[in-house]
Amino acid sequence: MNQMIISKNTETGRGVSMRPARAFTLIELLVVITVIGILLAVLTPALKKAKEATKKLICASNVRQFGIALGAYTMEHEERLPPSSCHMDHPEQYWLHILAAYSDSDLLYRCPSDTSKDFIDWDRPLEEQEQDGKWSSYAINSLLDPRCPLSQGRYNKVSNIRHPQYCIYLCEAPDSWTSFDHLHPENWGSIDEVKGQIAWDRHDGKSNYVFVDGHAECLSVDQTWAWPGNCFWFPGHAPGWPPDDF
Ligand SMILES: [Zn+2]
Ligand SMILES: [Zn+2]
Repeated sequence: MNQMIISKNTETGRGVSMRPARAFTLIELLVVITVIGILLAVLTPALKKAKEATKKLICASNVRQFGIALGAYTMEHEERLPPSSCHMDHPEQYWLHILAAYSDSDLLYRCPSDTSKDFIDWDRPLEEQEQDGKWSSYAINSLLDPRCPLSQGRYNKVSNIRHPQYCIYLCEAPDSWTSFDHLHPENWGSIDEVKGQIAWDRHDGKSNYVFVDGHAECLSVDQTWAWPGNCFWFPGHAPGWPPDDF
């Protein structure tokens, strides 16, 4: 029965719509373009924010892995901390190489917000790689080095540090730094000097830090160096001032 009706309609042409396709008017097009524009204006900052939040999370995961690696290393080495390149003779003695053995990730040394390129692979010998390759997005506190002339290596051992949970071991280093892996807090006299040496605002006005006890935190630079207040850079006194004997 239905088949019959359809064929009948087809014969008479009544089963097919004869109305011409309706085109958009100029006003409708303008409305659509305006709506798309508004959506882009609203969504672009939100997307950018989400992208930045992801970068911050990846960096936080990196530094947490450093914290875990640091704990494992100190346990295996009678509480000694891995040294920087400052007073060491060979790259295999640097923390960058030592802590690479505690992680499978090649991206551990890169903060995604660091715009540098050509990062060194610390699982491979340094002499086989680019001479001016980027060592890392991160740097460590050289006052904790075994051969630090100021502390005579005293603070290379965790149990000699008064408050390991308040003493910074690792922080984020500026994008412009290439063959460098450590900082000298003993040379800083003001908050502006600290800001000139670390990537203090890499993540929305803050950056990531690892403390000697292995825990990681995202802090503003003022929270690490405040006068009067706490200073987390000097192993002899952290968290307080004055840093008269480091
Ligand atoms: Zn140095
Ligand atoms: Zn970072």
